[in-house]
Amino acid sequence: SAKEEGRNRFCTFEPQFYAQFESELENLTSLREGLSKDQFTVHFQPRINARTEKIETLEALVRWQHPRRGLVLPSEFIPLCEKSGLIVELGAKVLRQALKFLQQMKKAGHQSRISVNVSQRQLQEPDFHAFVRAELEKHGCCGSELELELTETLVVDSGEIIRNNLTEVRALGVTIAIDDFGTGYSNFARLSEMAVDYIKIDRSLVMGLPANAGLIQAIIAMCKVMKAAIVAEGIETREIADQMIELGAEELQGYYFGRPVAPEEILTRLEKDGNGRRPCCM
Ligand code: C2E
Ligand code: MG
Ligand code: MG
Ligand code: MG
Repeated sequence: SAKEEGRNRFCTFEPQFYAQFESELENLTSLREGLSKDQFTVHFQPRINARTEKIETLEALVRWQHPRRGLVLPSEFIPLCEKSGLIVELGAKVLRQALKFLQQMKKAGHQSRISVNVSQRQLQEPDFHAFVRAELEKHGCCGSELELELTETLVVDSGEIIRNNLTEVRALGVTIAIDDFGTGYSNFARLSEMAVDYIKIDRSLVMGLPANAGLIQAIIAMCKVMKAAIVAEGIETREIADQMIELGAEELQGYYFGRPVAPEEILTRLEKDGNGRRPCCM
Protein backbone atom coordinates (compact mmCIF):
# COMPACT_ATOMS: atom_id res chain seq x y z
CA SER A 1 0.00 0.00 0.00
CA ALA A 2 0.93 3.62 -0.29
CA LYS A 3 1.23 3.84 3.46
CA GLU A 4 3.66 0.97 3.62
CA GLU A 5 5.56 2.38 0.71
CA GLY A 6 5.72 5.71 2.44
CA ARG A 7 6.90 4.11 5.64
CA ASN A 8 9.47 2.10 3.80
CA ARG A 9 10.71 5.16 2.06
CA PHE A 10 11.29 6.86 5.38
CA CYS A 11 12.92 3.84 6.98
CA THR A 12 15.15 2.88 4.12
CA PHE A 13 18.44 4.66 4.13
CA GLU A 14 19.06 6.02 0.66
CA PRO A 15 22.79 6.46 0.23
CA GLN A 16 22.26 8.27 -3.03
CA PHE A 17 19.98 10.85 -1.45
CA TYR A 18 22.33 11.27 1.46
CA ALA A 19 25.31 11.78 -0.84
CA GLN A 20 23.39 14.43 -2.72
CA PHE A 21 22.42 16.18 0.48
CA GLU A 22 25.96 16.01 1.76
CA SER A 23 27.43 17.46 -1.41
CA GLU A 24 24.85 20.26 -1.38
CA LEU A 25 25.92 21.13 2.15
CA GLU A 26 29.54 21.09 1.05
CA ASN A 27 28.71 23.30 -1.90
CA LEU A 28 26.86 25.70 0.34
CA THR A 29 29.84 25.91 2.66
CA SER A 30 32.22 26.61 -0.19
CA LEU A 31 29.79 29.18 -1.67
CA ARG A 32 29.73 31.03 1.65
CA GLU A 33 33.49 30.87 1.79
CA GLY A 34 33.71 32.14 -1.78
CA LEU A 35 31.49 35.09 -0.91
CA SER A 36 33.45 36.01 2.20
CA LYS A 37 36.76 35.71 0.34
CA ASP A 38 35.52 37.73 -2.65
CA GLN A 39 36.06 34.98 -5.19
CA PHE A 40 33.26 36.19 -7.47
CA THR A 41 34.10 38.35 -10.46
CA VAL A 42 32.03 39.84 -13.24
CA HIS A 43 32.63 39.48 -16.95
CA PHE A 44 30.94 41.64 -19.55
CA GLN A 45 29.39 40.74 -22.89
CA PRO A 46 28.59 43.45 -25.44
CA ARG A 47 25.16 44.11 -26.87
CA ILE A 48 25.35 45.77 -30.26
CA ASN A 49 23.13 48.35 -31.92
CA ALA A 50 21.91 46.59 -35.07
CA ARG A 51 22.11 49.79 -37.14
CA THR A 52 25.48 51.20 -36.09
CA GLU A 53 26.99 47.89 -34.90
CA LYS A 54 28.49 49.77 -31.94
CA ILE A 55 28.32 48.66 -28.31
CA GLU A 56 25.12 49.86 -26.70
CA THR A 57 25.02 47.84 -23.49
CA LEU A 58 27.36 45.56 -21.57
CA GLU A 59 25.78 42.61 -19.76
CA ALA A 60 27.35 41.70 -16.42
CA LEU A 61 27.75 37.92 -16.08
CA VAL A 62 29.08 36.56 -12.82
CA ARG A 63 31.93 34.01 -12.58
CA TRP A 64 33.39 32.18 -9.63
CA GLN A 65 37.17 32.29 -9.49
CA HIS A 66 37.48 29.07 -7.55
CA PRO A 67 40.88 28.38 -5.94
CA ARG A 68 40.91 24.74 -7.13
CA ARG A 69 38.37 24.51 -9.93
CA GLY A 70 39.33 27.66 -11.81
CA LEU A 71 36.68 29.81 -13.49
CA VAL A 72 33.25 28.36 -12.68
CA LEU A 73 30.19 29.37 -14.77
CA PRO A 74 26.88 30.52 -13.25
CA SER A 75 24.89 27.39 -14.17
CA GLU A 76 27.03 25.55 -11.59
CA PHE A 77 26.22 27.80 -8.64
CA ILE A 78 23.31 30.17 -9.35
CA PRO A 79 20.63 27.50 -8.70
CA LEU A 80 21.99 26.78 -5.21
CA CYS A 81 22.42 30.49 -4.56
CA GLU A 82 18.76 31.00 -5.41
CA LYS A 83 17.61 28.03 -3.36
CA SER A 84 19.61 29.09 -0.30
CA GLY A 85 18.97 32.81 -0.53
CA LEU A 86 22.69 33.58 -0.95
CA ILE A 87 21.73 35.16 -4.29
CA VAL A 88 20.74 38.34 -2.41
CA GLU A 89 24.31 38.79 -1.20
CA LEU A 90 25.86 37.64 -4.47
CA GLY A 91 23.52 39.87 -6.51
CA ALA A 92 24.51 42.87 -4.40
CA LYS A 93 28.18 42.16 -5.10
CA VAL A 94 27.52 41.83 -8.83
CA LEU A 95 25.62 45.13 -8.96
CA ARG A 96 28.43 46.90 -7.08
CA GLN A 97 31.14 45.48 -9.34
CA ALA A 98 29.12 46.36 -12.44
CA LEU A 99 28.61 49.97 -11.33
CA LYS A 100 32.23 50.26 -10.30
CA PHE A 101 33.20 49.21 -13.81
CA LEU A 102 30.72 51.66 -15.32
CA GLN A 103 32.30 54.44 -13.27
CA GLN A 104 35.75 53.36 -14.43
CA MET A 105 34.60 53.29 -18.07
CA LYS A 106 33.18 56.78 -17.82
CA LYS A 107 36.42 58.08 -16.34
CA ALA A 108 38.19 56.59 -19.38
CA GLY A 109 35.79 58.53 -21.61
CA HIS A 110 33.45 55.72 -22.69
CA GLN A 111 29.72 55.49 -22.38
CA SER A 112 27.72 52.31 -22.20
CA ARG A 113 24.72 51.07 -20.33
CA ILE A 114 25.30 48.14 -17.99
CA SER A 115 22.75 45.38 -17.63
CA VAL A 116 22.58 43.13 -14.61
CA ASN A 117 20.65 39.86 -14.18
CA VAL A 118 18.36 39.90 -11.18
CA SER A 119 16.72 36.92 -9.46
CA GLN A 120 13.29 36.78 -7.87
CA ARG A 121 14.70 36.57 -4.34
CA GLN A 122 16.48 39.89 -4.78
CA LEU A 123 13.34 41.63 -6.01
CA GLN A 124 11.38 40.24 -3.09
CA GLU A 125 13.49 42.31 -0.70
CA PRO A 126 11.29 45.32 0.06
CA ASP A 127 14.24 47.73 0.02
CA PHE A 128 15.84 46.46 -3.20
CA HIS A 129 14.99 49.73 -4.95
CA ALA A 130 16.60 51.77 -2.16
CA PHE A 131 19.75 49.65 -2.47
CA VAL A 132 19.87 50.27 -6.24
CA ARG A 133 19.42 54.02 -5.74
CA ALA A 134 22.15 54.16 -3.09
CA GLU A 135 24.62 52.22 -5.25
CA LEU A 136 23.91 54.41 -8.30
CA GLU A 137 24.60 57.50 -6.20
CA LYS A 138 27.71 56.02 -4.63
CA HIS A 139 29.17 55.34 -8.06
CA GLY A 140 28.09 58.61 -9.65
CA CYS A 141 25.80 56.87 -12.13
CA CYS A 142 22.31 57.80 -13.24
CA GLY A 143 19.45 55.34 -13.47
CA SER A 144 19.32 55.36 -17.26
CA GLU A 145 22.80 53.84 -17.33
CA LEU A 146 21.52 50.68 -15.66
CA GLU A 147 19.26 47.94 -16.95
CA LEU A 148 17.86 45.02 -14.98
CA GLU A 149 17.25 41.69 -16.74
CA LEU A 150 14.40 39.60 -15.37
CA THR A 151 12.77 36.43 -16.57
CA GLU A 152 9.27 36.58 -17.99
CA THR A 153 7.71 34.38 -15.29
CA LEU A 154 9.18 36.63 -12.62
CA VAL A 155 7.56 39.69 -14.17
CA VAL A 156 4.22 38.06 -14.87
CA ASP A 157 3.75 36.27 -11.54
CA SER A 158 5.11 39.06 -9.38
CA GLY A 159 3.39 40.19 -6.21
CA GLU A 160 3.10 43.57 -4.55
CA ILE A 161 6.72 43.89 -3.34
CA ILE A 162 8.24 43.05 -6.71
CA ARG A 163 5.88 45.36 -8.55
CA ASN A 164 6.74 48.17 -6.16
CA ASN A 165 10.49 47.59 -6.61
CA LEU A 166 10.06 47.70 -10.38
CA THR A 167 8.00 50.90 -10.27
CA GLU A 168 10.56 52.56 -7.99
CA VAL A 169 13.62 51.64 -10.04
CA ARG A 170 11.89 52.68 -13.26
CA ALA A 171 11.23 56.06 -11.64
CA LEU A 172 15.04 56.36 -11.34
CA GLY A 173 15.34 55.84 -15.10
CA VAL A 174 16.50 52.23 -14.82
CA THR A 175 15.32 50.18 -17.81
CA ILE A 176 13.84 46.69 -17.62
CA ALA A 177 14.57 43.83 -20.00
CA ILE A 178 12.83 40.48 -20.16
CA ASP A 179 15.53 37.83 -20.48
CA ASP A 180 15.29 34.46 -22.26
CA PHE A 181 12.00 35.42 -23.85
CA GLY A 182 10.08 32.63 -25.52
CA THR A 183 11.14 29.87 -23.14
CA GLY A 184 8.60 30.35 -20.35
CA TYR A 185 4.84 30.36 -20.28
CA SER A 186 3.97 33.75 -21.62
CA ASN A 187 0.87 35.37 -20.30
CA PHE A 188 0.74 38.08 -22.91
CA ALA A 189 -2.23 39.79 -21.32
CA ARG A 190 -0.32 40.24 -18.04
CA LEU A 191 2.97 40.90 -19.75
CA SER A 192 1.47 43.70 -21.84
CA GLU A 193 0.40 45.47 -18.62
CA MET A 194 4.00 45.59 -17.41
CA ALA A 195 6.29 48.39 -18.44
CA VAL A 196 9.13 46.68 -20.23
CA ASP A 197 11.80 48.43 -22.29
CA TYR A 198 13.57 45.49 -23.94
CA ILE A 199 12.74 41.93 -24.78
CA LYS A 200 15.63 39.54 -25.25
CA ILE A 201 14.66 36.67 -27.51
CA ASP A 202 16.22 33.50 -26.17
CA ARG A 203 19.22 31.91 -27.81
CA SER A 204 17.36 28.62 -28.35
CA LEU A 205 14.91 30.41 -30.67
CA VAL A 206 17.52 32.50 -32.45
CA MET A 207 19.70 29.44 -33.09
CA GLY A 208 16.74 27.76 -34.80
CA LEU A 209 16.98 30.19 -37.72
CA PRO A 210 16.25 30.11 -40.61
CA ALA A 211 13.79 27.24 -39.98
CA ASN A 212 11.74 29.10 -37.37
CA ALA A 213 11.74 32.58 -38.93
CA GLY A 214 7.93 32.54 -38.91
CA LEU A 215 7.81 31.84 -35.19
CA ILE A 216 10.27 34.62 -34.40
CA GLN A 217 8.32 37.00 -36.63
CA ALA A 218 5.15 36.26 -34.65
CA ILE A 219 6.95 36.77 -31.33
CA ILE A 220 8.41 40.07 -32.52
CA ALA A 221 4.96 41.25 -33.62
CA MET A 222 3.68 40.62 -30.08
CA CYS A 223 6.68 42.40 -28.55
CA LYS A 224 5.96 45.46 -30.68
CA VAL A 225 2.47 45.58 -29.16
CA MET A 226 4.19 45.90 -25.78
CA LYS A 227 6.29 48.74 -27.23
CA ALA A 228 9.47 46.95 -26.23
CA ALA A 229 12.65 46.99 -28.28
CA ILE A 230 13.93 43.62 -29.48
CA VAL A 231 17.29 42.13 -28.57
CA ALA A 232 18.41 38.85 -30.16
CA GLU A 233 20.53 36.61 -27.92
CA GLY A 234 23.00 33.93 -28.91
CA ILE A 235 24.08 35.23 -32.32
CA GLU A 236 27.02 33.12 -33.43
CA THR A 237 27.21 33.86 -37.17
CA ARG A 238 26.92 36.77 -39.58
CA GLU A 239 24.05 34.99 -41.37
CA ILE A 240 21.94 34.81 -38.21
CA ALA A 241 22.79 38.43 -37.37
CA ASP A 242 21.52 39.50 -40.80
CA GLN A 243 18.35 37.42 -40.46
CA MET A 244 17.58 38.93 -37.06
CA ILE A 245 18.15 42.47 -38.38
CA GLU A 246 15.80 41.62 -41.27
CA LEU A 247 13.21 40.39 -38.75
CA GLY A 248 13.43 43.70 -36.89
CA ALA A 249 15.85 43.20 -33.97
CA GLU A 250 17.17 46.52 -32.64
CA GLU A 251 20.08 45.04 -30.72
CA LEU A 252 22.21 41.93 -31.12
CA GLN A 253 24.22 39.85 -28.67
CA GLY A 254 26.24 36.69 -29.06
CA TYR A 255 29.65 35.16 -29.58
CA TYR A 256 29.78 36.59 -33.12
CA PHE A 257 29.92 40.11 -31.63
CA GLY A 258 31.91 39.14 -28.57
CA ARG A 259 32.03 36.63 -25.74
CA PRO A 260 31.77 37.64 -22.11
CA VAL A 261 35.25 38.86 -21.14
CA ALA A 262 37.05 40.45 -18.20
CA PRO A 263 36.55 44.22 -17.74
CA GLU A 264 40.10 45.07 -18.90
CA GLU A 265 39.40 43.39 -22.24
CA ILE A 266 36.23 45.42 -22.71
CA LEU A 267 38.17 48.61 -22.04
CA THR A 268 40.72 47.64 -24.69
CA ARG A 269 37.93 46.99 -27.18
CA LEU A 270 36.27 50.32 -26.42
CA GLU A 271 39.61 52.07 -26.99
CA LYS A 272 39.74 50.48 -30.44
CA ASP A 273 36.10 50.64 -31.62
CA GLY A 274 34.50 53.31 -29.52
CA ASN A 275 30.84 52.92 -28.70
CA GLY A 276 27.50 54.28 -29.72
CA ARG A 277 25.88 55.81 -26.67
CA ARG A 278 25.52 59.51 -26.00
CA PRO A 279 27.05 60.74 -22.76
CA CYS A 280 24.49 60.73 -19.97
CA CYS A 281 25.71 61.99 -16.63
CA MET A 282 29.28 62.36 -15.45
P1 C2E B 1 21.61 34.93 -19.60
O1 C2E B 1 21.39 36.14 -18.76
O2 C2E B 1 20.59 34.59 -20.59
O3 C2E B 1 23.03 35.16 -20.28
C1 C2E B 1 23.38 34.65 -21.54
C2 C2E B 1 24.24 33.39 -21.42
O4 C2E B 1 24.46 32.86 -22.73
C3 C2E B 1 25.62 33.64 -20.83
O5 C2E B 1 26.01 32.44 -20.18
C4 C2E B 1 26.45 33.86 -22.09
O6 C2E B 1 27.81 33.58 -21.91
C5 C2E B 1 25.82 32.88 -23.05
N1 C2E B 1 25.96 33.31 -24.44
C6 C2E B 1 26.00 34.57 -24.93
N2 C2E B 1 26.12 34.58 -26.27
C7 C2E B 1 26.15 33.29 -26.66
C8 C2E B 1 26.28 32.64 -27.95
O7 C2E B 1 26.38 33.27 -29.01
N3 C2E B 1 26.27 31.27 -27.94
C9 C2E B 1 26.16 30.55 -26.81
N4 C2E B 1 26.19 29.22 -26.90
N5 C2E B 1 26.06 31.14 -25.58
C10 C2E B 1 26.05 32.48 -25.51
P2 C2E B 1 26.60 32.44 -18.70
O8 C2E B 1 27.53 33.58 -18.49
O9 C2E B 1 27.10 31.07 -18.43
O10 C2E B 1 25.31 32.74 -17.81
C11 C2E B 1 24.25 31.83 -17.76
C12 C2E B 1 23.07 32.39 -17.01
O11 C2E B 1 23.37 32.59 -15.62
C13 C2E B 1 22.63 33.76 -17.50
O12 C2E B 1 21.83 33.65 -18.65
C14 C2E B 1 21.85 34.27 -16.30
O13 C2E B 1 20.54 33.77 -16.30
C15 C2E B 1 22.59 33.64 -15.14
N6 C2E B 1 23.46 34.68 -14.54
C16 C2E B 1 24.67 35.12 -14.91
N7 C2E B 1 25.13 36.09 -14.08
C17 C2E B 1 24.16 36.29 -13.16
C18 C2E B 1 24.01 37.18 -12.04
O14 C2E B 1 24.86 38.03 -11.72
N8 C2E B 1 22.85 37.07 -11.32
C19 C2E B 1 21.86 36.18 -11.63
N9 C2E B 1 20.77 36.15 -10.89
N10 C2E B 1 21.97 35.35 -12.69
C20 C2E B 1 23.10 35.40 -13.45
MG1 MG C 1 20.78 37.99 -19.11
MG1 MG D 1 19.55 35.88 -21.67
MG1 MG E 1 19.49 32.97 -22.25
